[in-house]
Amino acid sequence: MICENFIEEIIEKELSEGKVSAVQTRFPPEPNGYLHIGHAKSLCLNFGVAKKFGGKCNLFFDDTNPSKEKTEYVDAIKEDIKWLGFEWAEIHYASDYFDVIYSLAEKLILDGKAFVCDLSGDEIRALRGTLTEPGKESPYRNRTVEENLKLFREMRDGKYADGEKVLRAKIDMKSPNINMRDPVIYRVLHAEHHRTGNKWCIYPMYDFAHPICDSMQKVTHSLCTLEFEDHRPLYNWTVENTGVEHKPRQIEFARLNVTNLVMSKRYLKKLVEESSVDGWSDPRMPTLTGLRNRGVPSDALKKFCDEIGVAKSNSEIEISYLEHFIRDNLNQNAERAMAVVEPLKVVIDNFDASEEVEVEINPNKPELGKRNVLFTKEIYIEQSDFSLNPPPKYFRLKPDGVVRLKGAYIVKYENAVLNDDGSVKEVHVSIVENSKSGNDTSGVKCKGTIHWVSAESFVPCEIRKYDYLLKDAEYQGQDFSERINENSRTIYQGVCEKYIDSVETGSCFQMLRTGYYKKMVDGEKIILSEIVSLKDSFKK
Ligand code: ATP
Ligand code: MG
Repeated sequence: MICENFIEEIIEKELSEGKVSAVQTRFPPEPNGYLHIGHAKSLCLNFGVAKKFGGKCNLFFDDTNPSKEKTEYVDAIKEDIKWLGFEWAEIHYASDYFDVIYSLAEKLILDGKAFVCDLSGDEIRALRGTLTEPGKESPYRNRTVEENLKLFREMRDGKYADGEKVLRAKIDMKSPNINMRDPVIYRVLHAEHHRTGNKWCIYPMYDFAHPICDSMQKVTHSLCTLEFEDHRPLYNWTVENTGVEHKPRQIEFARLNVTNLVMSKRYLKKLVEESSVDGWSDPRMPTLTGLRNRGVPSDALKKFCDEIGVAKSNSEIEISYLEHFIRDNLNQNAERAMAVVEPLKVVIDNFDASEEVEVEINPNKPELGKRNVLFTKEIYIEQSDFSLNPPPKYFRLKPDGVVRLKGAYIVKYENAVLNDDGSVKEVHVSIVENSKSGNDTSGVKCKGTIHWVSAESFVPCEIRKYDYLLKDAEYQGQDFSERINENSRTIYQGVCEKYIDSVETGSCFQMLRTGYYKKMVDGEKIILSEIVSLKDSFKK
């Protein structure tokens, strides 16, 4: 078996030594927002490892913080995971285990390993010490077992207000690891939970709940990001001291960070709440629902996650690398079509009929054949494809020049009609004899091919192009709100082939010479929404 990363190596070794038999992982989101690209990496890793070793992966909702969690997020997370094509074995919620977690907390109290503390959050912090100084013990640390049990039950029964009392593990205030200095494991919180309603007014802390839930689900490898490395001793302490039968192992890996993207639910939520974007599924959002709405194929995202690998130290990946996989996928799979941004009318003086010309559906899939496109006397080209004063090496339409119209003919410039303000109103050209695409015997040398849309058979469309939500990497370190790109969406008016009118909403195209676009609609209006540009700026 070829191991793809250090986690697989660890697991393979444990399997061969007989330390584990059936591999089980879990993907553990907190339902406090929508999933983003970083979560895709965690998903690929957890599901990937389980699959590789013939094990299973659960979906586990870490819902121990009722004030921030919602059923809306639970549903969205399930949707996103399905979109990526992963199937969880079982679905569990931390809240399913609240009774077990509670009884294990009582067990710690009975064993003299936990105590109820009346210090406030600030007081606890003040006594916690620093990396160089040990902490000081709480004056409540030596309460009797009976007193602790009574107080803890009173906490559960709603006798105390939020923050009035907490339950703390009794570990070691001198530990070099601050997380081990009598960490809080339960707090009072009078908040309605999206699943348990008002049953509880105390909730376990993540560090206490997570290992217990892993154990209950029989997770063998609890994969999490590097910031939890310092929490691993507490994870292990909890597993040992609660006496749970099944003992999972925590392994940490590096978070995925991508240039120009915010990768934190908290910040993404802020963007949504401040209306910097049109909700969680705005095509500019790095959320999975945003990518899906943008038209990014889920396979491209998975391939990206696989290629970047799993590391032990944090780093930042160029966004162009992600785009490279999206473009590559669409180049293979997307149909070709033509759309014109900022149209300029072109009249073909020596052509009065109309005729069907053929354009390849996808040159990478010749078996799909060709599609007929109506070619007419009047067509639209992009304003930028004509210039009265062309710069050197301008191989588009220009005075005294020729250019090929994609799939049709070579045309020769005749004259331009100007508006009063000097701008170009329309351009007249003529077809070069015997220059039909695929059957060109004209002998005319023509360096440029441009795309076009018939002015007699088209639909108007709105073309949306996107820039990154966050300004460049050079702004790194600045607060993210200072890095917001105010011009991340530009709307153009254009025209596209009538064919686009007939295809399903959501279809993705390579608009020839323009980029990859997804068809969307807004009432009667057709929108072509950019997925990714044509040009690959990624350098391997
Ligand atoms: P956020 O800060 O965006 O809320 P989180 O880590 O709090 O992220 P969770 O819902 O707790 O989000 O994450 C579920 C799983 O996804 C965790 O195992 C977490 O470590 C992992 N994860 C989250 N962000 C990333 C990332 N950028 N790269 C890799 N894994 C991630
Ligand atoms: Mg979180």
